[in-house]
Amino acid sequence: NVRVRFCPSPTGTPHVGMVRTALFNWAEARHTGGTLVFRIEDTDAVRDSEESYNQIIDALKWLGIDWDEGIEVGGPDGPYRQSERGEFYKEAARKLLEAGYAYESFSTPEETAARNVAAGRPKEFGYDGYDRTLTEEQKAAFRAEGRKPAIRIKMPDEDIVFDDLIRGRIEFKAGSVPDYVIVRPNGDPLYTLTNPVDDAMMNINVVLRGEDLLPSTPRQIVLYQYLIKLGIARQMPLFGHMPYVMGEGNKKLSKRDPESNLFLHRENGFIKEGLLNYLALLGWSISPDNDIFSMEEMVEAFDVRDVKANPAHFDLKKAISINAEHIRMLEPQDFLNRSVPYLFKEGLVSADNWDALTEWEQEVLTKAAPLVQSRVRLLGEVGGMVGSLLSTEEYIAPDKDAVKQLKDSSADVLDAAIAACENISDDGWTTDNLHETLTDVLVEKGGYKPRLAFGPVRVAMSGRRVSPPLFESMEIVGKDISVARLKGLRE
Ligand code: GLU
Repeated sequence: NVRVRFCPSPTGTPHVGMVRTALFNWAEARHTGGTLVFRIEDTDAVRDSEESYNQIIDALKWLGIDWDEGIEVGGPDGPYRQSERGEFYKEAARKLLEAGYAYESFSTPEETAARNVAAGRPKEFGYDGYDRTLTEEQKAAFRAEGRKPAIRIKMPDEDIVFDDLIRGRIEFKAGSVPDYVIVRPNGDPLYTLTNPVDDAMMNINVVLRGEDLLPSTPRQIVLYQYLIKLGIARQMPLFGHMPYVMGEGNKKLSKRDPESNLFLHRENGFIKEGLLNYLALLGWSISPDNDIFSMEEMVEAFDVRDVKANPAHFDLKKAISINAEHIRMLEPQDFLNRSVPYLFKEGLVSADNWDALTEWEQEVLTKAAPLVQSRVRLLGEVGGMVGSLLSTEEYIAPDKDAVKQLKDSSADVLDAAIAACENISDDGWTTDNLHETLTDVLVEKGGYKPRLAFGPVRVAMSGRRVSPPLFESMEIVGKDISVARLKGLRE
């Protein structure tokens, strides 16, 4: 039974790398019928925040990434917030000390650096193991000075080798990793201790995480070996390190890049299906010739061993085009339900959910949906498309792009269009009839090229260069407003 975990530190707003980690762990659990444990690593009182904690949960819930044990849902190995697990870490540290796998270290960083210099080692050599051999008298003397010890893990003098699920065999040479601190002098346990202790106690057997954590793996493997001997861990987990995500200019995508900000993508109108599909492609693919898939398909096909080791590239354009595909696949009513909050934010409708809209708004949107759904890439674009349909304004000021569509001939075109439209009866005000009549009057009889003929009409109707199909739009807003808008632009 595969047991994986997602264990973010609640610092800052959810980012692309974090969510990719959650997604791949989730896919691994779901594919194998295993268990996803969701734990919060909030041992850094200064940087952790409740706001970030809530945002991470919000993000996962929005995306539909669910978990089997952990915060909110509980489970046999709780509590699932490290801030509530202090006793376990104390106990583990005590046992490690007792067994001689860890030791008290009184050296200050300055003392360590001075010893390195004196021994002809580079200053940045790191900790030299000096306190390993302190006698009880020496320790007592340090204590008498008022010093408090950190606790360090004793690294064995041998190569550390493991088979990474994604990268294959990885070796760390003996002596390349110094004895490292697991508990600060003030008693605070560090990530180096809390993370493996929790993985052990929660019986995690597959650790899937970002490449940035690779340097901590040899440390954790050694600690794990000790925890197994102490009976705290049952077995060594398998490790897989997912590739870096690169951004603009081939630099590592930083948590602070806007492209990294999950909620910004949501605000711009990514739907979860599109965003998840794109995030899944950051290091994995379902097949060489298909980039569009659902989460059901991902779960069916996912295997960590297929994750690629080389860096992935975050390509916003590609993400958006994938999102467009998923928007097209939505049921029209679902598309509308999801669009309404965006329209409301832009002040285009009266409520932020479908059921609370007026009948007229629902009617207009229902008619507009098929015209719009195939033309937007993000839900944030829906407003620009339907704004003129939801408005009863008799004049819509053209935007900059639209103004460029107006030529010398536009006034004559508009006059001809107004006359033709006024001649159409209310019953005849249909898409087909408008198409036929205006084509006849403007193109066939008027001799205008279609672009010169319909461009100004489009600008009058929507104020924009690009809009939903023209004749459909005219049918939706009706004869009175259509004619008024044509006249409005003419003046
Ligand atoms: N809390 C750690 C982080 O957010 C988890 C690292 C790990 O997966 O081991 O980076």
